[in-house]
Amino acid sequence: MIALSIIVTKFGGTSLCDAARFQNVASILGADPTRRYVVPSAPGKRFDDDEKVTDLLYKCHGQMMSGEDFMKTFAKIEARYREIAEALSLTGRWQAEMDVIRGRFPQEKTADYIASRGEYLCGMMLAEYLNWDFVDPKDLIWFDRDGRLDAERTEAACKAALDAHAYAVIPGFYGSLPDGTIHTFSRGGSDITGAIVASAVMASLYENWTDVPGFLMADPRIVDNPKLIDCLTYRELRELSYMGAAVLHEDAIFPVRKKGIPVNIRSTVHPEHPGTRVVPRADSADSTITGIAGHKGFRVITVEKAMMNGERGFGRRVLQAVEEQGISFEHMPSGIDTLCLVVHEKQLEGREGALVNRIYELTEPDSVDVTSDLALIATVGRGMVRQRGTSGKLFGALMDAGVNVRMIDQGSSEMNIIVGVDHGDFEKAVRAIYGAFVE
Ligand code: ASP
Repeated sequence: MIALSIIVTKFGGTSLCDAARFQNVASILGADPTRRYVVPSAPGKRFDDDEKVTDLLYKCHGQMMSGEDFMKTFAKIEARYREIAEALSLTGRWQAEMDVIRGRFPQEKTADYIASRGEYLCGMMLAEYLNWDFVDPKDLIWFDRDGRLDAERTEAACKAALDAHAYAVIPGFYGSLPDGTIHTFSRGGSDITGAIVASAVMASLYENWTDVPGFLMADPRIVDNPKLIDCLTYRELRELSYMGAAVLHEDAIFPVRKKGIPVNIRSTVHPEHPGTRVVPRADSADSTITGIAGHKGFRVITVEKAMMNGERGFGRRVLQAVEEQGISFEHMPSGIDTLCLVVHEKQLEGREGALVNRIYELTEPDSVDVTSDLALIATVGRGMVRQRGTSGKLFGALMDAGVNVRMIDQGSSEMNIIVGVDHGDFEKAVRAIYGAFVE
């Protein structure tokens, strides 16, 4: 017997923000019987100023911890679910669950259990509406004691459990610690749950349904109407999401990459559109660059010492200081007598002085300078490798736009050119690169 291929789908919060969106999700699922497992987020925003259920849950927890009254916020959450349940004529099971959650509030020291209930309730309602089985990820997704995913245990648990369900709803975002306490991924983590489920059931495709048409070549808040990327590789996706392109959670790629399962980012608003495909590898590229991403908030620590290049162990000692302070760095460009570290300012919070002192102690440099307000921009494309003149074109465009380049790093993969510019030049630089390669 030939096994039917399985598609695992994940729907984001805006795709489940009200009853009409639930109906939309049901019709997408109904259109293809191989869409057998669905991972929902918690209901998101219905309009610009609206609040996401997950944000409300975190707010409730914060209010409870600081001894404020959280019932008003809780009532808002309840109203969101009630509206959906009534419009879809669902039973009152969710209401009983809501009462349990409210009752458990005072015992919860961390926000994880509370935050996870957004997905839990949404999944329960979706399962009832679709008439599919509900599978609680508390028994499927396992973390270790430090809160890191226990991939082996998770895969085994998912496989064993899901085998018994032809069609199932598995809420995203959370799982359990070894002692059974609920633990969540970082924000946006339902993408990871979907990828884990896809990997465990050896899906032929992981569809990630969201409210945007797919992966865009640049941030639409910076570039007007950027083009959609039809197809990109896992590596390109990883580079772009790491640098801030926020369509898929940056950790979601690992479980599917291991098995070579392609991902398709699709829009629930335009289900007829093929969206963006993310594939293990692609031999050809339609254009030199695939996308541009970047963000602000970096600092450069420049360590200068005459004759540094001849001093053995200099780099190691600088990095020892970085490690001792528990800091991770992004890039380390170096010259003959200088070595620079590019670090995000969040990493340096409360630790910058100690780091500089320790570098002085360990390396006896001529100077250590810290400059801030650096923005990094990654221009990513598998098409770059064989294309002559890519960097010339990129730097020419930045020069024409009057952008001063403060740092350059061409990743060894030759798939990536990273430039550092002043905060004030960030948007201008992104537009200039986009203009040079795409328009
Ligand atoms: N609901 C969670 C969040 O808002 C997780 C998710 O949507 O993926 O971050």
